Amino acid sequence: MSQSRMIRYTCPYCGKTFETEIYDSVTADTDEDLRDRCVSGDLFRISCPKCKREFMIQYPLVYVDRRHRFVIWLKEEEPGAETVKALAGPLAPAGFRLRRVTTLQEFVEKIQIFEDEVDDRLVELAKYDSLIEFIDNRKGTAEDVTSIDYQKTENGVMKINVRTADKGMSFLIPVSMVEEELNQDADRYAVDDSTFPVINADWIISLFQEPEGTFAS
Ligand SMILES: [Zn+2]
Repeated sequence: MSQSRMIRYTCPYCGKTFETEIYDSVTADTDEDLRDRCVSGDLFRISCPKCKREFMIQYPLVYVDRRHRFVIWLKEEEPGAETVKALAGPLAPAGFRLRRVTTLQEFVEKIQIFEDEVDDRLVELAKYDSLIEFIDNRKGTAEDVTSIDYQKTENGVMKINVRTADKGMSFLIPVSMVEEELNQDADRYAVDDSTFPVINADWIISLFQEPEGTFAS
């Protein structure tokens, strides 16, 4: 069951304080309307009753999809170990994919990835490969890139969009290709669901920056 509550919020533009509804949890498989409002971002869009301005507010939210068996925890700050343990509790052993995301953009993308039944580690690999290809083809430099987005997976091919300020380029990455890449170095890409890992661009970059065999055990 989805849970919401009313909070008092002060408009950053005009200073008016008003009540607005926020969600602590969304159960996507039973509340399809809320699922749609998460994906569109409407759940986080509020408008001031006085000055009528609209803006987005991000707040912690636990998103559960039992049909596709995943839980996404939208939470910007790193949670304490006890909180993680309590939430992961029975979910990880039950085979749920557990992820934490830190931004609304990552949140929406992660829902799409898991609804497409795709391994998000493969998506991050595909994004990384797309970026390398983008640079190798002299389409621009890494600094030019404003975003790398997952679009969809169809017939075993992932579509990734690399955007700069003035243009966008699509890359088609076969899932089998990144799967092979991952399987060749499975330990490096291993994640522990019970820790609600953050699997995003920073994650993949950190893997490639880790010194190999530098530290003796
Ligand atoms: Zn206002």
